[in-house]
Amino acid sequence: MKTVAIVGCGAYMDAGFGCPGEWRCLKAAAKGDHLFEEPSQVVAFIRCECPGRTVAPNLGMAMKLSETRPDAIYLSSCLVNARPGCPYTTAEELASVLESKTGIPVVQGTHGYH
Ligand code: SF4
Repeated sequence: MKTVAIVGCGAYMDAGFGCPGEWRCLKAAAKGDHLFEEPSQVVAFIRCECPGRTVAPNLGMAMKLSETRPDAIYLSSCLVNARPGCPYTTAEELASVLESKTGIPVVQGTHGYH
């Protein structure tokens, strides 16, 4: 089974909109729905914290401590689609940073549930 790490927007989580991290990303990964091409095992769920400097090191630490290298990294749909958007970076820029630091492909978005 494909293994994945998910990165959610911590500011969005703190706002209490019920996402990311409660069930939507996890259900989509488990079922292979939406941007997941197949049922996938979530091996890490990383919370971005403003202004976003910690997300790459925290992802690296999660991979190191869990001794797991996911096949793909997913940016949560809330992180990618939040309006107003992130004031510090874009999903494209964050994906590019994570891809270059880890060598792992990054998918922008996870689910389409409401
Ligand atoms: S830096 Fe952007 S993506 Fe990260 S928690 Fe803050 S608002 Fe969300």
